[in-house]
Amino acid sequence: MLNLQRTDLFREAAYVGGEWSAGSGDSWQTIHNPADGERLGRVPCLTRAQVADAIRAADKAFAEYRQWTGKAKAAVLQRWAALMQEHKADLARIMTAEQGKPYAEAMGEIDYASSFLEWFGEEAKRIYGETIPAPRGTQRITVIRQPVGVCAAITPWNFPSGMVTRKVAPALAAGCTVLLKPAPQTPFSALALCVLAEEAGLPKGALSILTGNAEDIGAELIESETVRKLSFTGSTAVGKKLMAACAGTMKKLSLELGGNAPFIVFDDANLDAAVQGALASKFRNGGQTCVCANRFFVQAGIYDSFVERLTKAVISMRVGRGTDHGVTLGPLIDDAAFRKVERLVDDARAKGAQVRAGGQPHSAGPRFYTPTVLTEVDYSMSIMHEEIFGPVAAITRFTDEAEAITLANTTRYGLAAYFYTSDLNRSIRVTEALDYGIVGLNEGAISTEVAPFGGIKESGFGKEGSRHGIDEYSERKYVCVGNVS
Ligand code: NAP
Repeated sequence: MLNLQRTDLFREAAYVGGEWSAGSGDSWQTIHNPADGERLGRVPCLTRAQVADAIRAADKAFAEYRQWTGKAKAAVLQRWAALMQEHKADLARIMTAEQGKPYAEAMGEIDYASSFLEWFGEEAKRIYGETIPAPRGTQRITVIRQPVGVCAAITPWNFPSGMVTRKVAPALAAGCTVLLKPAPQTPFSALALCVLAEEAGLPKGALSILTGNAEDIGAELIESETVRKLSFTGSTAVGKKLMAACAGTMKKLSLELGGNAPFIVFDDANLDAAVQGALASKFRNGGQTCVCANRFFVQAGIYDSFVERLTKAVISMRVGRGTDHGVTLGPLIDDAAFRKVERLVDDARAKGAQVRAGGQPHSAGPRFYTPTVLTEVDYSMSIMHEEIFGPVAAITRFTDEAEAITLANTTRYGLAAYFYTSDLNRSIRVTEALDYGIVGLNEGAISTEVAPFGGIKESGFGKEGSRHGIDEYSERKYVCVGNVS
């Protein structure tokens, strides 16, 4: 069915302390292909006692793994990256089957995911400390960096491999061990990565993949005093709950939460670049990314041309199963996601938005929505306040720069923002005025392993990627040596 070269990459098991586990054997989660609802397989629901065993295994592994040299950690991470490249087609097939994204996008995500292993493999050798001039001649002050310890990671379904390595790679590079709970829709990508991690030489217990009920697994991880950090990527609502729960054991936290990205096009923008950027930012992964343009603000002088060109490009998108040749837009992840998109479009239309393209379900199947362009959108509509997480471009007209900035910042989120202009001074002013953790200036595709990805406000805190990513998994220990003679 999946047509894999290496059938052993597809595992219907959890991965606990370096062993493949069927849990208690009597409770399972079934995974379906979102394109047609076909059953793909199942994974076990671990009991809380089994999660506790996994935590003990991670702790035991940590005692030894924390002693590894940067060079040794680098070698494993880089071998793992190379194995991902070697088995890229199989990994992409598994991803398209469980997540629905077009195969070409899945191949791109495997590159993105393996880039974190490569990058943090390199960084493992550069976890530098500091020497600080002491205020007294008899003292010497240094700062050393050490791994945080056993870390928990919880990931969403929209990037089934990328979200895994973006957390696991810096944690392992820093010398931490990791317990990861993947999203229930997409566990097979994470499990396939473990097969390759084992082959690359990752020691037993350094990485576990815990499948099953989110609340049980989450509670066991969060209540544990052994687990010193939680890194969560998902919705703001769940992030807030987890943050409150982590107060009990004062865990270190990274929260990569929801977004509501503005995409501003000024009159002086390069129109071709703006339309290309809009397509990349809005429609990648069917509009199901946290950094997706959610609200388009287009200046009056360029509004009609931008709408016309974007609509033309959107109408020509090819909707279908991710495995079909030439498809650029797959299904939404599940029925709930589909209903949300439908509700937001219907609400906008009822309140006066104009439908320029789409605005209805697509004939490819029950979870497919036709790529949509809405204009004359305003803040009375839910679509301006909620993450759409679907292939819908909602466009609002503005007249001047101050208005654009006010419109863009009117949200409780602060993850990514985009704007297009060819005016140098405006570039600087607007970059500085946008209340976001990431700004794409004349650029719609901003994700890369070399830059610090992360939000502000209710989009969370902490950085993933770049040299800053490793800070989240290491502590600075200040050492004061006295009585030096
Ligand atoms: P979600 O509902 O918050 O779920 C995310 C993960 O958390 C899933 O694995 C989920 O498992 C788990 N979870 C839910 N409740 C939990 C609990 N009480 N304890 C422990 N784990 C729990 O989000 P989603 O719908 O999967 O993902 C979409 C969201 O992720 C969007 O808001 C998107 O913007 C955000 N996102 C952010 C970034 C970023 O970098 N900022 C990147 C990608 C996605 P169950 O499904 O089993 O409950």
